[in-house]
Amino acid sequence: MAQAKVFLKNYMEDVVWNFLDDLLSKYPEVCRCETCRYDIVALALNELPPKYVVREQGELYSRIKTLEAQYRIDVYTALARAIMLVKDNPRHANEN
Ligand SMILES: [Zn+2]
Repeated sequence: MAQAKVFLKNYMEDVVWNFLDDLLSKYPEVCRCETCRYDIVALALNELPPKYVVREQGELYSRIKTLEAQYRIDVYTALARAIMLVKDNPRHANEN
């Protein structure tokens, strides 16, 4: 019997990643290296309610759009706060 290709997925993760670049474009002074981007997303996700669903491999991400609309303000607020935290306290030395 073929192994079922289902797994748990936190949709909020995708929503936060989707909004990240959009919001970062408003903060040109913030570092965009991988470390800082992951730090920003981790901080934002810790503030947001997880939205777990069971997904099947290959399933379309149509539900993200619904969540984006529903949580837009919360996600933007959490991301903006996370961006400020990482900007003031990057994990690496400031290169400027
Ligand atoms: Zn950085």
